[in-house]
Amino acid sequence: MVVSTINGTSPLSHSNGTTIPLSTFSRNSFVNVEKGDPVAFRPYWEKVRDECTVEIKGDEWMSYLGDTNNLCWYMVPQMRDAILRLHNVVGNAVTKDKFLVLGTGSSQLYQALLYALSPSESSHRPINVVAAAPYYSEYKDATDILQSRLFQWTGDAALYDKDEPYIEVVTSPNNPDGTLRVPVVNSGVEGKIIYDLAYYWPQYTPITDQLDHDVMVFTFSKCTGHAGSRIGWAFVKDIEVAKKMIRFVQLNSIGVSRESQIRAAKMIGVICDGYKNLKSIESDHLFFDYSKRLMKERWEKFKGAIEKSKVFTLTKYPTSYCHFNKDLSEQYPAFAWLKCLEGIKDGESYLEKLKIRTRGGGRFGVDTKYVRVSMIGTEDEFIELCTRLSNAKRE
Ligand code: PMP
Repeated sequence: MVVSTINGTSPLSHSNGTTIPLSTFSRNSFVNVEKGDPVAFRPYWEKVRDECTVEIKGDEWMSYLGDTNNLCWYMVPQMRDAILRLHNVVGNAVTKDKFLVLGTGSSQLYQALLYALSPSESSHRPINVVAAAPYYSEYKDATDILQSRLFQWTGDAALYDKDEPYIEVVTSPNNPDGTLRVPVVNSGVEGKIIYDLAYYWPQYTPITDQLDHDVMVFTFSKCTGHAGSRIGWAFVKDIEVAKKMIRFVQLNSIGVSRESQIRAAKMIGVICDGYKNLKSIESDHLFFDYSKRLMKERWEKFKGAIEKSKVFTLTKYPTSYCHFNKDLSEQYPAFAWLKCLEGIKDGESYLEKLKIRTRGGGRFGVDTKYVRVSMIGTEDEFIELCTRLSNAKRE
């Protein structure tokens, strides 16, 4: 296997014997903070790597089925138990009286939800799908890729003024700008709401409430950083919606990889065991303590670099009480949302000249003077980003 990505501060050895070399940035190489690949927490998982090892023998996990007694028949009991345990430890969602639907990443569940929440009568026009700008850049394409007759992307929820059925996606904390959000559509017709809670974890934001919405979507990717396992889940109040989602997953991928489920369940178990054995464990071994500290340190460094550059302004975040950490805390979003000062019209092109690759505001439904920067990449990428940003003006 050849892996060309820059990865971490120490060479990474795979159990198959390959290694990814240490990266060094030359003046000509790009710092790529365009994507949101959540590899920042790898040093934590390196520390507990042996505890997390999962062995799968040749004859194991062969069937499509996970648990025929569960509505979500492809979900293995270990996965279900781990997810419920995690929410119980963190306290970020009410899981009682809801159906748990597993997906191959929350991206699959987004599609499953559009299908499940669209009117089934063929006489209906496609239902409008909206999200307040700046919205997660993939919603638009994920909605329109198949040019469905059931649903269509309609853009900024704040501008929605039709008296027609709609689905509003509420992402909180939001990707790209980290803000905490509530529905914004003002329409005579009642809409359906999808809460995308990908970043409602203690390392990114204080856990202020145990959320209790009809449709709540979470992802393993941004919780632990294991995006490659492709595990996402949704809590759904209405059994008919849950059934339709499960039917979608059945037709789309006949379930979710059981190997992935077993691995994800193991990782979640390691996190939760840490919090159960609080007294016997150093705080560096507690996943959310570690990851929150990392995000806080990065944000402090990043703010310093932005201040020095005098080229951008940053979104301001409130401080709130976190029920999980039992302290007052700021938010440390997975992305920084930069606004260029007067005179720079296109932030993405401006930063491209500094050899920093970012995602411009246009992709998120707003002006090009905004750019999104990933805060969850590798450490050496992040350090190089801060160095280049603090020198921005001079260059
Ligand atoms: N929702 C949001 C807001 C995201 O940022 C992401 C990942 N970037 C996803 C959903 C998709 O996550 P995944 O498919 O890895 O679960």
